[in-house]
Amino acid sequence: MTAEIVNPATGLVTYRHELLDSAQIEQRLAAAAAGFPLWSARSLQERGAILRAIAAQLRHRRTDIQLAMTSEMGKLKVEALAEIEKCAQACEFYADHAADYLKPQLIDTEAQRSYVRYEPIGCVFAVMPWNFPIWQVFRFLAPAFMAGNVALLKHASNVPQCADLILAVCRDGGLPEGVFDVLHIDNDQAAEVLRDRRIKAVTLTGSERAGRSIAANAGDQLKKCVMELGGSDAFVVLEDADLGKTVAAAVKSRFDNSGQTCIAAKRFIVVDAIADAFVEQFVAAAAERVYGDPQDEQTTLAPMARADLRDELHKQVQASVAKGATLLLGGEPVAGTHAGYPATILDNVGPGMPAYEEELFGPAAAIVRVRDDAEALRVANDTSFGLGGSVWSGDVVRAEAIAKRLECGAAFVNAIVKSDPRLPFGGTKRSGFGRELADHGIHEFMNIKSVYVA
Ligand code: NAP
Repeated sequence: MTAEIVNPATGLVTYRHELLDSAQIEQRLAAAAAGFPLWSARSLQERGAILRAIAAQLRHRRTDIQLAMTSEMGKLKVEALAEIEKCAQACEFYADHAADYLKPQLIDTEAQRSYVRYEPIGCVFAVMPWNFPIWQVFRFLAPAFMAGNVALLKHASNVPQCADLILAVCRDGGLPEGVFDVLHIDNDQAAEVLRDRRIKAVTLTGSERAGRSIAANAGDQLKKCVMELGGSDAFVVLEDADLGKTVAAAVKSRFDNSGQTCIAAKRFIVVDAIADAFVEQFVAAAAERVYGDPQDEQTTLAPMARADLRDELHKQVQASVAKGATLLLGGEPVAGTHAGYPATILDNVGPGMPAYEEELFGPAAAIVRVRDDAEALRVANDTSFGLGGSVWSGDVVRAEAIAKRLECGAAFVNAIVKSDPRLPFGGTKRSGFGRELADHGIHEFMNIKSVYVA
C-alpha cells in the first residue's frame, strides 16, 4: 500500500512511500529478537558512547531533519532546530546518568545481602505522534537504549521521513543492527505487532482514542504499557501575578507549535480582579502572532499539521461560541490556506462547552473567569485530563499551595510546563499513566528484581 504525505503549508503531496508487508515486519521482529541479547550484554560505557555519537549525528544532520519536520507536519524552522538540539542533549543526559540510575540498590534486611537490580526486558514497541516528531521518539529511545532494551517504532503516518531520519542518525551513530528499526505500518498491523510474543511492552504517546485501543490490546496480552495521552492544562492567574511576564508566557505556551502541544496551557483560569487587564494584554500579544510559511523566519504561527485537525478545532470553537463563549480573536480558518488557523481566544468559557470539556489541540485559548483561589483550584481540577498545570502569582507560597493540589503529573509555579530529562514526565486521570524521563522513565521498561542472599 502506498501512503501520500501532504505538506500542510501548501496542501501539495510531497512524498509517497510504501507500507511494509508481513514478511518485512517479520524480518524486523526477528532482527530485534536477535539483537537484544547482544545489545543488553554491552557495557553501559559502550552504550553511552553510541548515544553520544547519535547526539553528534543529530546535530550534523539537523538541516535535513528540520526540513523533513517542516514539510511533513508544518513546524516552524526555529522550533524544529530547538527540538533537534533537545534530543541531542537528552541522549547525552542519559549517557551521563544511566549508570547512576541503574546501579543496584542495596536494601538493609536480615539477609547477608539483599538488593534491587534493574534488568532490561527486550523489545519495546513505540507508537508515536507527529507533534514533536523527533523529541517524542528520543525521549523514549535514549533511556531505552541505555537500559539495554531494543525498540521498534511505529511513527504517526504523516511523518515517515522524520522516522527514517531518526533511524539514519542511529545507524550512523553506530547503533548495531537489531537494536532499533522503523515499521511503516497501519494501525491494524500495529495491533498485530503488539500481539507478537517478541514484543515485551508498548509505549504510546498520542490521543485518548489510540490509548484505549493500545492499552486494551496490551492488557489482553498482559504486557506492560506506558500511556502519554492528551491534556487540557490549566494556567491559573492570581491577581498579584506579574502581568507582563504572565501574558508573554501564556502566549508562548498556547501558540508555539501552532498550539499542538500536549502540555500547552489550554484553559486560562483567571481571577476576576485581574481578568480584564490579563485578557486585554493577552489578546493584544496573541494578535501579533503572524501566520505564514513555516520555513520563513518571520513567521510566528505555523500551519496546523493536517487540514482535518484544523477542521476539528474549528468545530470545537464554533460549538463553544454557540454555547455562549465570547470570541475575542481569530475564530475562522486562515483564508486560502490548506491547514491555517489563526491565534484564537475565547472568553467566558464554562462547563458544557467543548473549550471547557475537551482538549483544544491547536491555536485556540479558553478563558474561564473565577472569583478567587478556591474557585480557581476547583475549575483547574474540573477536567478529565491530568497532564500538567501552572500557577502565576507574586506570592510563590500561595501559588505553590495551589500547585500542590492540582490533579496532574506536573505543576509549575511562575513557569510554563515543559519536559526536562531531569524531571519525570507523565499524566494522571485520562492523560495516561506511567512516566518518561529522569530515573522513573528508565525504570518503566525494566525488570525490577529483588535479590536476597540468606
Ligand atoms: P493519535 O492520532 O492518537 O496518533 C498517535 C499515534 O498513535 C500515531 O502513531 C497513530 O498512528 C497511532 N494510532 C492512532 N490510533 C491508533 C489505534 N487505534 N491503534 C494503534 N495506533 C493508533 O494522536 P496524534 O493526533 O498524533 O497526537 C495528538 C494527541 O497526542 C493529543 O491528544 C496530544 O495531547 C497527545 N500527546 C500527548 C503527549 C504526552 O506526552 N502526554 C505528547 C504529545 C502528544 P497513525 O498516524 O497511523 O494513525
